[in-house]
Amino acid sequence: MSSSIKAPNRTILVVDDEIDVLDFLTIYLESLSWNVVAVDSTRKAFEVLEREPCFCVLTDIAMPDMDGYEFIGEIKNRAIDIEMVLMTGFGYNPNHTLVKLNKSSHYPCLFKPFDRRKLADTIQAAYDRYHHGPDRIA
Ligand SMILES: [Mg+2]
Repeated sequence: MSSSIKAPNRTILVVDDEIDVLDFLTIYLESLSWNVVAVDSTRKAFEVLEREPCFCVLTDIAMPDMDGYEFIGEIKNRAIDIEMVLMTGFGYNPNHTLVKLNKSSHYPCLFKPFDRRKLADTIQAAYDRYHHGPDRIA
């Protein structure tokens, strides 16, 4: 029953400690007409969230200052209205990541290297959920 209509918001916050990933995601997502704000730390991400409404945060899991799970936990604590999508690559303690993923399975997770179509579809789905509510998804 969450059917409140929101003003269109096409801004995605991308958080990853790897600059190459930020560069790729910025170029690719902007090519799909999304607005992208890319930062390399969760500290900077919270600064962005305080000043700029974003419909989606696309966050890396393995980061040095705060991992992606702590980050989305803090976003929830602050009651920020935003869709959350996780991303992870090979080579970072995959068993541990998958255990945690099961506990957070209501968040979409993208795997690096990215499947561009899957990435595009996941962001579009997040946009639709943000603007039209979860009952729109079927
Ligand atoms: Mg990382």
